[in-house]
Amino acid sequence: MEIELTQVYTCPRCGLDTPHFVLARRGDRVGVECSQCHTSSLVMRDDLSQHQFLWEEELRQILNSLEDSNPDDER
Ligand SMILES: [Zn+2]
Repeated sequence: MEIELTQVYTCPRCGLDTPHFVLARRGDRVGVECSQCHTSSLVMRDDLSQHQFLWEEELRQILNSLEDSNPDDER
């Protein structure tokens, strides 16, 4: 799976989901750096992909809920 130049990941220092720059890739590990506090983390590529996937899902749901202003939204 392709890894993009920035990935959303939970920064251990910020304690938030922040965009991280991808610094290096070795095997199934990726070195990333928080774009806000510049803390480096070494994460599993699968974890990163999974995190990105969940983040995009959440974003899609937020966008959908913005578009869909129907009050009878079923859950
Ligand atoms: Zn950070």
